[in-house]
Amino acid sequence: MNEIPYKILLSESEIPRAWYNLRADMKNKPAPLMNPATHRPMTAEELAPVFCEELIAQELDDTTPYIEIPDEILGYYKMYRPSPLMRAYRLEEALQTPAKIYYKFEGNNTSGSHKLNSAIAQAYYAKKQGLKGVTTETGAGQWGTALSMACSYFDLDCKVYMVKVSYEQKPFRREVMRTYGAAVTPSPSEDTAVGRKILAEHPGTTGSLGCAISEAVEVSTSNPGYRYVLGSVLNQVLLHQSIIGLETKAALDKYGIRPDILIGCAGGGSNLGGLISPFMGEKLRGEADYRIIAVEPASCPSFTRGRFAYDFCDTGMICPLAKMYTLGAGFIPAPNHAGGLRFHGMSPTLSQLYHDGLMEARAVPQNAVFEAAEQFARIEGILPAPESSHAIRVAIDEAVRCRETGEAKTIVFGLTGTGYFDMTAFEKFHAGLLDDSIPTDADLQIGFDQLPKVE
Ligand SMILES: *Cc1c(COP(=O)(O)O)cnc(C)c1O
Repeated sequence: MNEIPYKILLSESEIPRAWYNLRADMKNKPAPLMNPATHRPMTAEELAPVFCEELIAQELDDTTPYIEIPDEILGYYKMYRPSPLMRAYRLEEALQTPAKIYYKFEGNNTSGSHKLNSAIAQAYYAKKQGLKGVTTETGAGQWGTALSMACSYFDLDCKVYMVKVSYEQKPFRREVMRTYGAAVTPSPSEDTAVGRKILAEHPGTTGSLGCAISEAVEVSTSNPGYRYVLGSVLNQVLLHQSIIGLETKAALDKYGIRPDILIGCAGGGSNLGGLISPFMGEKLRGEADYRIIAVEPASCPSFTRGRFAYDFCDTGMICPLAKMYTLGAGFIPAPNHAGGLRFHGMSPTLSQLYHDGLMEARAVPQNAVFEAAEQFARIEGILPAPESSHAIRVAIDEAVRCRETGEAKTIVFGLTGTGYFDMTAFEKFHAGLLDDSIPTDADLQIGFDQLPKVE
């Protein structure tokens, strides 16, 4: 048996040619998006003013297991994929663990994260439909950057509503987006009715993802030739991100490696949903079993402390309702929270899988996350994004547990991106300014009380 290399690389021709649609193998399908007015499932016609046609078809398709990746998308994927699956030999040695640790590194493109996998697909379908452009929100800025890149590939106009606090704290992210031709507006803004309403109700607000989503949706529906695109949460995004898991599985299969534990950070759930998809598929079909762990911030604990309920994806309450683990559409993590993953809800697909006991979730405090980030950077060399570092934290914890029990488990985690634009967060960590305050039950109850009454 060959020794396992540091980097398991597939060749270009080994990039999967179809995305895997996990929903096809789920007995309990994720609940459909619901029309907030009629409380009936959203139809393709109702979604058409907001989303691109083919993406709606993908969103609503719960039955087709494999969806072919168009050649043009595959061509763009080949510019930065396959991404490497790394064996963390040095981390294993540093932790003195018998565990074998692997990570799938998605940070090797200018956007610095996995989000480009879906951005390229969404821009392609928008162009194919003959649209002029797309609108979106971005928080930390990775999604906006990825979408700006994809829109420049396909010559589409790109309007990004960026959460105001990030717009101000991350001027470099903003300029990267402008370099790729996007128009970037801090949210809430005076440009939209919903922005003006939120500003009137909460003067001085620094914004939230939910608020930026409302603005981006409003702009798409009021400008002919525009549609709204979203970088996480939706079924279609998990579908596009299945490329991460399919490549991971192909790389592991080359060496006959079977993981015991799969770990990913969870904001809206897209990288984790993508990483686990082929493995979860085997689990659903009864062919194999894996432990799957979603890691979220203790200050934004949608899986571990949220409600499984229909809720709005946006603050302005203009989007369809999604059934998901949620903290309520008005939830905003404490101002001191620096680690990303701030969305109040979670992918409906992952929410259903979690509800059915097919995966676990763990919430981690932010200082422990940044400690793991720094330890990882010093040992493995890659400067991880704070989001990704949630997964690193739990991978290290599991590897340390293996040291204690003597079990040589195989751990695979998703290293979703790099942290170069997050140095303000690292600066606060180094200065000892991050606190681990987590919301009280009473804090969370405020969000739960505002959940829409359906069912
Ligand atoms: C956006 C982002 C995440 C979280 O989003 P998911 O949809 O949960 O994957 C994680 N890591 C990085 C680097 C990101 O940019």
